[in-house]
Amino acid sequence: MRAFRSVGGTPRFLVSARGPYVTDAEGREYVDLVAGWGPAILGHADPRVIEAVQDAAGRGLSFGSSTPAETELAELVEARVAPVEQLRLVSTGTEATMSAIRLARGFTDRDLLVKFAGHYHGHSDGLLAEAGSGLATFALPGSAGVPADIAALTLVVPYNDLDALTAVFAEHGPRIAAVIVEAAAANMGVVPPLPGFNRALVELAHAHGALVISDEVLTGFRVSAAGWWGLEARDEASAYTPDLMTFGKVIGGGMPVAALGGSAEIMQQLAPLGPVYQAGTLSGNPVAVAAGIATLRAADGAVYERLDATAATISTAVSDALAAEGVAHRVQHAGNLFSFVFGAEAAGGEVRDYATVQRQESWRYAPFFHAMLEAGVSLPPSVFEAWFVTAAHDDAAIGRIIDAAPAAARAAASA
Ligand code: PMP
Repeated sequence: MRAFRSVGGTPRFLVSARGPYVTDAEGREYVDLVAGWGPAILGHADPRVIEAVQDAAGRGLSFGSSTPAETELAELVEARVAPVEQLRLVSTGTEATMSAIRLARGFTDRDLLVKFAGHYHGHSDGLLAEAGSGLATFALPGSAGVPADIAALTLVVPYNDLDALTAVFAEHGPRIAAVIVEAAAANMGVVPPLPGFNRALVELAHAHGALVISDEVLTGFRVSAAGWWGLEARDEASAYTPDLMTFGKVIGGGMPVAALGGSAEIMQQLAPLGPVYQAGTLSGNPVAVAAGIATLRAADGAVYERLDATAATISTAVSDALAAEGVAHRVQHAGNLFSFVFGAEAAGGEVRDYATVQRQESWRYAPFFHAMLEAGVSLPPSVFEAWFVTAAHDDAAIGRIIDAAPAAARAAASA
């Protein structure tokens, strides 16, 4: 992704970032809609976060022991996300999902894992089958280096398709340890779950004795204070309780923190209380945890209102610009995450799965992206990624995006 493989051209090498802006090695400043791939909800280099990191660094970089700060971060998460009774900190989203899967297998004493096509859960061996993110960009079915025996333990199902999921459970039910799902898919572009899908998925899995791992690495603490789970918990008809949840990105405020959490009964199967091994030299690192605490403390209701409003303003303006140039498209939303799907099929219908996203007129994105970059706006360098706003996007930054959109839409139209 960073290499601009999807959009072509020379990737920008960035040297600094502040608020809604990033600056490259040649001194050019861009309004940023990548936000470090999600963590920077407050904007880059928020003074409260930087100060917390500097303070923590002054007390030592890594202790390899438990710390009070680690407990404080866990308490902040548990206060926001009710299904999390216990939390284990790790350093990356990949580790969080990898460990959650091992835990689910240990707890159920079963081997098979179900994932959805186009969902990305990091780069561990069993999770690269029909994955989103960089793999969507390259149209890779998986990765070299993954043994067939390991890949065979992952069953891939079309997203938002309960019939397909029911069929997989009918065939393999007693061997399925867990279903892993992005709480709202955002690594094939944004594809939200259909209303009630997550709830029905949990009921189906539980009926077969399988666990559900809801991956909120990307959505957690971004789309609401309680992530995607929190949005669906507001309505009885869609509320659900996953067995395990995974977090990353915002929970570390731009530093390497991620986590897995869930029901105490399951979490206690992790070492040292239980037989499922998990460890990490840098887990709960005090400097990284300081950034996470400062970010979550600052991310109050006003921040989420601002993120929602900014996402609405930008997505509407860009959509209007595309429409004015006759570019058929559809704006996809999951809370304040959004992305665009190009082509008449998407414009005319619903986009609910990976196959539909892959059939789009994806070639329109590269010229659009480069026109925006030329005008000083840094977008995610692939049509298969979400756009990320920050609470630091002020009127000036938003205005630059809106001003840049018509020329970019023209470039997309003539592609
Ligand atoms: N799960 C999801 C939903 C993600 O979006 C990502 C990263 N984009 C990961 C897991 C992996 O996280 P990391 O890159 O920190 O390993």
